[in-house]
Amino acid sequence: MVQKICVVGAGVVGLSCAVRMKDVLGDSVTVTIIADKFFKETTSHVAAGGIRFDSAPTISGYKGSRQNVGRDVAFISFNEYYAGASRPDAKKAGMHIIEGYSLKYPGVRDKHQELLYREMCKRWYPVPEEELRAIFPLLPKGSEGDFLESVMISPRTYMPWLMQRFIQKGGMVKNAHVNSFDELWPEYDVVFNCTGLRSPALTTDDSVYPVRGQVIRALLPASEKKFTYVNNGTDRPPYYYWTPDGTVLGGTKLERRADMNVLEADHDFIMDVTKKWFPFLNITEEKVVEESVGLRPYRPSIRLELEELRHEGAKKILIHNYGHGSHGVGLSWGCAVVAVEMLTNALLQSKL
Ligand SMILES: Cc1cc2nc3c(=O)[nH]c(=O)nc-3n(C[C@H](O)[C@H](O)[C@H](O)COP(=O)(O)OP(=O)(O)OC[C@H]3O[C@@H](n4cnc5c(N)ncnc54)[C@H](O)[C@@H]3O)c2cc1C
Repeated sequence: MVQKICVVGAGVVGLSCAVRMKDVLGDSVTVTIIADKFFKETTSHVAAGGIRFDSAPTISGYKGSRQNVGRDVAFISFNEYYAGASRPDAKKAGMHIIEGYSLKYPGVRDKHQELLYREMCKRWYPVPEEELRAIFPLLPKGSEGDFLESVMISPRTYMPWLMQRFIQKGGMVKNAHVNSFDELWPEYDVVFNCTGLRSPALTTDDSVYPVRGQVIRALLPASEKKFTYVNNGTDRPPYYYWTPDGTVLGGTKLERRADMNVLEADHDFIMDVTKKWFPFLNITEEKVVEESVGLRPYRPSIRLELEELRHEGAKKILIHNYGHGSHGVGLSWGCAVVAVEMLTNALLQSKL
């Protein structure tokens, strides 16, 4: 019997799940994406799209056979994007290889992050402090830093590319607000919950909260395919990432702030701090092309969890995939692979 599946959410997490489902299950399923916001209106649109981990991601609710699912979602994502960035259609998919520095103030180095980068990246090496301080004179004594090659996924190109893949594979899309999953059970056998920050409205989980980020995009040729991220242990880390839509300058990570207006004070802070840290980029107001705000869907851990339910006597499956915080673009593919694997295992076991 053909399974009827619905993905609620059309951010990078929902789109990845929908595409992965059609890749794996083909015509044995119908898949419909339902969302009330698409592309430009989503949080995913604001992200720079760097694949960057502070340490192996933590996952909750997962009951499958993977021993270290957090590490797995990071590796699956990285390998997929790295391979994608090396293919001829990489530009169309919004993927590119990038290199740069990951800097840490004294005391903020995370050994787990180091191990993950060391294993994952094709090029990764620690840089001596004197060398770092020659390039970044503002770096305090006792800081550490690595040089690495990684991948960027530009959501503004990647999400339309995913959507096109989904539609080509027969996927369907509905623009609608979902008030409760109960609305969906009469029509669907399986629902994926990829609603990000607004998941508490549909679940009993109140552990998701916003972390406000404002970013500037500027046309800076000097930053071509480079990045630097300064982990200074505060909610205002200086960084830049080159993307095809302009170099993203940041940043702010303000916990439990849900206001969405671009703030002049944050603009001034970002311009000032990035000019001081990265003078070689020649940042000026005239080069600014866009400024945006997004609310990162934080949660103590990403929820990747399958629930079996009953609706009017029929067995139903609800799979949660939300709470990706600062890493939703970077981790979306790995989470989609694991979420769809959870479904296929459950279908094999339960014969819905
Ligand atoms: C400034 C900034 C910079 C960032 N930089 C990076 C980065 O470099 N790398 C990285 O990996 N991540 C980054 N992130 C984080 C990343 O943007 C998020 O983790 C990611 O976008 C979350 O994706 P999502 O699909 O879960 O949510 P969203 O993109 O918010 O999508 C949620 C979807 O759910 C739908 N929805 C919700 N509730 C309902 C409902 N009741 N009915 C119907 N539809 C509903 C919405 O319409 C939307 O389609 C950044 C975020 C910000 C703000």
